[in-house]
Amino acid sequence: LILNASQITVGGAYQNWILLAMEDITERYVIEKKKDDFIAIASHEMKTPITVVKGNLQLLERMLEKGDMEGYKPRLRQSMDSMENLNRLISNLLDTSILTSGSTNKTSEVIKVIDIIDTPLAQVGEVYKSHDFVLYGDTDLEILGNKDQLSQVITNLLINAAKYSKDSKQVVMHVGRVGNFAKISVTDTGIGIAKENHKRVFDRFYRVSGNDNNYFGAGIGLYISQQIVADHGGTIWVESEIGEGSVFSITLPLSK
Ligand code: ADP
Repeated sequence: LILNASQITVGGAYQNWILLAMEDITERYVIEKKKDDFIAIASHEMKTPITVVKGNLQLLERMLEKGDMEGYKPRLRQSMDSMENLNRLISNLLDTSILTSGSTNKTSEVIKVIDIIDTPLAQVGEVYKSHDFVLYGDTDLEILGNKDQLSQVITNLLINAAKYSKDSKQVVMHVGRVGNFAKISVTDTGIGIAKENHKRVFDRFYRVSGNDNNYFGAGIGLYISQQIVADHGGTIWVESEIGEGSVFSITLPLSK
């Protein structure tokens, strides 16, 4: 068989077209599959706090009817915590769908590091009242970024530090300058993460096995955080040892 140059070109282009079409179908299948998993996990995770609150409301109603309100406070507290968990889950889900649809509101402005820390610290401190949150370092460093998205990252890191801490109740935040970056780290002395899972905790839906039943969550907080930080030209990583605690750090480019 002898082909001339033009036949080879046509054949090559046709082959490429088939390959592209196949890649497109596979990619669409993978995205659809991820979406299905996502919806299944998200709805499952939403049921947990709803069940807790519903049970508590029924109990409180019976207590009111009997005129015996003994022990109502922990029930109320538990319900409020569950609502906060649900709130966070929904924020993360919204962020995920915004990120995957590519339509993030990317308005950036010059902000001080404290601007992305103070609200999350107050809000998380309100939920985890028995924890001690300590902040030190140069919180006036200026970065260029989206305040809402970066606050979401800090909220996720603070909640994880408090949530995966068991009996050790101190969470320390440090802000410092490293070259042209601001580095923010969140340190806890909680359950820790084994080395082989240090990278995987940033994968979508990944949760360290064994934790699933003890701690509420859907495994998307760190995934979202990584996307947001990368979008800002920064990095996120963890240093941790089982039983010793974890240090989650992010770097964000300074504005000048
Ligand atoms: P979620 O907490 O909702 O499961 P994340 O994406 O925030 O999802 O975290 C993924 C997993 O990483 C968690 O399920 C947990 O196993 C682990 N993890 C995250 N933060 C910590 C921490 N500070 N200490 C120990 N384990 C953590």
